[in-house]
Amino acid sequence: MRVYSLEIQSLVFRAHTSSRYSVAALLGSIETDPRLNSLRVHAPIELPDSILATELKTGNAVLAHSVMSTQIDRIYHEVRGVREKFGDRVILVAGGAHASARPSNLLDMGFDYVVIGEGEAVFRDLLLHLLNDMDPTEVQGVVSAETDEFPVPKSLPRVVLDDYPPFALEMNIVGPVEVTRGCPFRCKFCATPFLSGGMVRHRGVESTTHWLKRAVNERGFERTWFLSPNALCYGGRGRKAVPEKLEKLLRETTSIDGLDLFFGSFPSEVRPEFVTSDLLEMFSHYVTNRTLQIGLQSGSDKVLDNANRHHTVQEGLDAIAIALDIGFIPHVDMIFGLPGETDQDIEASLQICEDLAEMNAKIHGHVFMPLPGSEWENMPAGRLNERTRQLLGEFSRKKIVTGSWSHQESLGQDLEFQK
Ligand code: SF4
Repeated sequence: MRVYSLEIQSLVFRAHTSSRYSVAALLGSIETDPRLNSLRVHAPIELPDSILATELKTGNAVLAHSVMSTQIDRIYHEVRGVREKFGDRVILVAGGAHASARPSNLLDMGFDYVVIGEGEAVFRDLLLHLLNDMDPTEVQGVVSAETDEFPVPKSLPRVVLDDYPPFALEMNIVGPVEVTRGCPFRCKFCATPFLSGGMVRHRGVESTTHWLKRAVNERGFERTWFLSPNALCYGGRGRKAVPEKLEKLLRETTSIDGLDLFFGSFPSEVRPEFVTSDLLEMFSHYVTNRTLQIGLQSGSDKVLDNANRHHTVQEGLDAIAIALDIGFIPHVDMIFGLPGETDQDIEASLQICEDLAEMNAKIHGHVFMPLPGSEWENMPAGRLNERTRQLLGEFSRKKIVTGSWSHQESLGQDLEFQK
């Protein structure tokens, strides 16, 4: 059995481009907790041996990773390397989407503790337990190789966003402000409902403006991004727009002197059926971005229905037309290789892509990946046929299609292999 603490004095939170937003939020939660003042914290983009070697001269260290399912290979090699060089004096902790969906995979890989569910409160408590020589698995949501039963995120307490900063201002590790978490829709290709739940939670206007004012004054912020599964759902329960609440958020935050707001553009998006002329006109008045990310996903109603999208192709096309009319360049998410897609469905999606190109809209191309935690996690990964690959390739060269569609095809197959 592994010793819990061995007097940890430092936390090395491995930052990586794909997990930088969660790292910023988790470090924000740690740096604002006075009980953790004694902890030395690093968040390196690369992990040279010298960081851990230096920290281990004065005590033991925690090395934390926020893990996405598509990063498993890289993390496996890193964890093995750390164990070989530093042994048990480095306590390995994992959180993030993959930790919630496949905790035993990470424990088998060599992590000592895995955080299931949302990390803001749990990660603080886990560190406090290590600092005080207590068993971290006493914290709800923390598991180890000795845990008999693993909880699932929906059985754990949900975070109130206002109780935590959106980023780590003291450490100057900043990112977008997550203004909405959770989604009441249950698209089968998406892991958000499993990870964040169907109940929508918003960061309040007061908290959002408070942190942004500080970011402008203390860190010279000139622009900010908001994160949301559906930018137009702010303030409500997620199934329909509440324009007055959305406008209040936009009005108050954009009235901060010297701050431009980007919202509804990647990595946020909007659901098509939320787009109306009035709402988008108001929205456009406040945001700086001229692109609008619209989740259409397929040109086939049958595929949309199968994926549980709860909107039609026509609703997507109407949203795109409204966005163009108001002066946005629509960036339309399309997923190829969704389960049950026939040649006819693929042709319908390709036709939509050609139509969008003619309309001067852009396409954000994806290939279906069976993400752990999603309802379709056991489905085969999407595979592109020759015609789709050619058209996406040609559109990519013309900069009509963006996105990591070609990389996702192989990542999806890696996920299949991991099962
Ligand atoms: S794809 Fe978007 S709308 Fe669908 S479940 Fe995921 S977050 Fe919600």
